[in-house]
Amino acid sequence: MLEEVLTPEDCKKCGFCCSFRRQSLNLTPLFAKETLKEIGRLYPEARFRTLPAGSVTIDISDRYDTDEREEEALCPFNQTGCVLPDDLKPFDCKLWPFRLMKGEEGLLLALVPTCPYIKKDDMSKLKKAAEEAAEKAMEYAKDHPEIVIEYRDDYEVILDLK
Ligand code: SF4
Ligand code: SF4
Repeated sequence: MLEEVLTPEDCKKCGFCCSFRRQSLNLTPLFAKETLKEIGRLYPEARFRTLPAGSVTIDISDRYDTDEREEEALCPFNQTGCVLPDDLKPFDCKLWPFRLMKGEEGLLLALVPTCPYIKKDDMSKLKKAAEEAAEKAMEYAKDHPEIVIEYRDDYEVILDLK
């Protein structure tokens, strides 16, 4: 959905969003519960944790070598690229670098502040990519409302969906 504003080559150079600092473990992607059985069958070594709200994410706490907050650990499904097939990949990862957020007056589609390669010079292309992403995100969020997160002002709002 993003080819005009972010190429696969850009992502190969970067890989940032598949790697998590110890202090950023709240950003690991949420997995749809209906995919866990199949992921567990394909990758029995993968570990998950359930968050207080009931959603499920990966548990990578044993992948760090130190207690440093800045140390990064790769998602276990990243082996020079994501090994998960599209139907098992977390929607968070498919939507990245956009996030569906809840603002004061309704839903927003916003750009994460940390994607270094997303092209923002042509806003019309970025908005077009965001519109397509928003349509899929809103459809997905009907059954998976946990993907909607509270707005934070370090995110740049691209579309106001209210
Ligand atoms: S942070 Fe952006 S450029 Fe880097 S891998 Fe993720 S989507 Fe690609
Ligand atoms: S599930 Fe795949 S795309 Fe998502 S963080 Fe892990 S390796 Fe990256």
